[in-house]
Amino acid sequence: MAAKKNSVVETSRRNAVAGRGPSIKTPTLAQNPYLESVYQEVVRRNPGECEFHQAVHEVLDSLGPVLAKFPEFAEHRIIERICEPERQIIFRIPWQDDKGEVRINRGFRVEFNSALGPYKGGLRFHPSVYLGIVKFLGFEQIFKNSLTGMPIGGGKGGSDFDPHGKSDNEIMRFCQSFMNELYRHLGEYTDVPAGDIGVGGREIGFLFGQYKRITNRYESGVLTGKGLSYGGSLVRTEATGYGLIFFIEQMLKVRGESIKGKTCVVSGSGNVAIFAIEKIHQMGGKVIACSDSDGYILDKRGIDLDLLKRVKLEQRKRIREYVEQQPKSHYVAGGNIWEVPCEVAAPCATQNELNGKDAALLSKNGVIAVAEGANMPTTPEGVKVFLDKGVAFGPGKAANAGGVATSALEMQQNASRDAWTFDFTEQKLRQIMMGIHDSCYKTAEEFGTPGNYVNGANICGFIKVAKAMVSLGLI
Ligand code: GLU
Repeated sequence: MAAKKNSVVETSRRNAVAGRGPSIKTPTLAQNPYLESVYQEVVRRNPGECEFHQAVHEVLDSLGPVLAKFPEFAEHRIIERICEPERQIIFRIPWQDDKGEVRINRGFRVEFNSALGPYKGGLRFHPSVYLGIVKFLGFEQIFKNSLTGMPIGGGKGGSDFDPHGKSDNEIMRFCQSFMNELYRHLGEYTDVPAGDIGVGGREIGFLFGQYKRITNRYESGVLTGKGLSYGGSLVRTEATGYGLIFFIEQMLKVRGESIKGKTCVVSGSGNVAIFAIEKIHQMGGKVIACSDSDGYILDKRGIDLDLLKRVKLEQRKRIREYVEQQPKSHYVAGGNIWEVPCEVAAPCATQNELNGKDAALLSKNGVIAVAEGANMPTTPEGVKVFLDKGVAFGPGKAANAGGVATSALEMQQNASRDAWTFDFTEQKLRQIMMGIHDSCYKTAEEFGTPGNYVNGANICGFIKVAKAMVSLGLI
């Protein structure tokens, strides 16, 4: 099943690459035999891990001109080394449900690259989690974290545990069992997890509590996304969504546009989506649709954010509940949110949620900017459509880096026993996002593909890690 999906994604990716017009000067992977052979080796060594293959292909596809400029990277086998995680931990998580039944899940932590700092990246609890998902996320995280300019390496973890419908006690027992194994691999100078899909403040609290109990150390810097009463940072909850909109603001500015007055669509309805909507509304834009995996809601007057927060964050209910409480809005069961016409689109749900057809429909309907709040939500075909049509496209590793950047700000506050104000922290986040935008923009131009933020992010993120790896020797 996974292998079949894999071949579909990869065949279409190759077709997409082969179909590129002469205006894009970057050599494609197929035109670069060395990169192609590295990619084929990654596919061979990691069978069935289609999301990981996809993430590697996207980065390697940008690197031809980098190798031409820095031949030492090939001599030092940097690409081969960067595609192989430094360490992969897979473990059993036994726990008891409320009926006293014993349940078993599988836990993962992939410590991908520590050239720039301790491994840093979230934990995802979702039934779809397997090694290929954790590796794609960990691989992306290396370059994302590099782009933030903060001293953090890349890693990711999680479990196939499904938090939906579980009681608080079940969540706590699961988190404690998860940490019973993971604690030995963590530390503020070693590996610092945070949240991702299915892991928020509640889970981080239970994980931190158990880490503290096992180690007998109040090591605040070992996890980020903590509650404010025990070492968390203001703005961390909002950071990924806010940062995404700061990034879009910059992409629009380059084109002489702004968010003010724009009609927007944001997929998802978790933390990232909710705070992206909040920031769009603060900046004078209007979000008319958001979604969950069952369908989407359409509220032409603009999403009522207080209601959305109540339904999703307080009541932990499905999005259809919004319509029950706001009868003037519509719920489209099983609908595709990308059919809603908009000028700005932000996929903030999950990987591969926006395909080539969706991208074609969005651009036909007049979208001018798209930025990824989720990790790899746009398929390779979708990315190609946006780039070909001249839509400003912000890839996740740049556009959603505000979350992990604010995690690094949390680590900074923990290390100095300090706590910054909301405004000060948000200002720092905005500066970081502006910096990421500018580096991606300049790098894309420098390497011959102006306006292509995918190349800009991949190249800029990669070069910093590669240079550090060369300096650190063969380790
Ligand atoms: N899971 C988030 C991401 O994809 C945040 C990671 C973190 O804060 O360490 O970047």
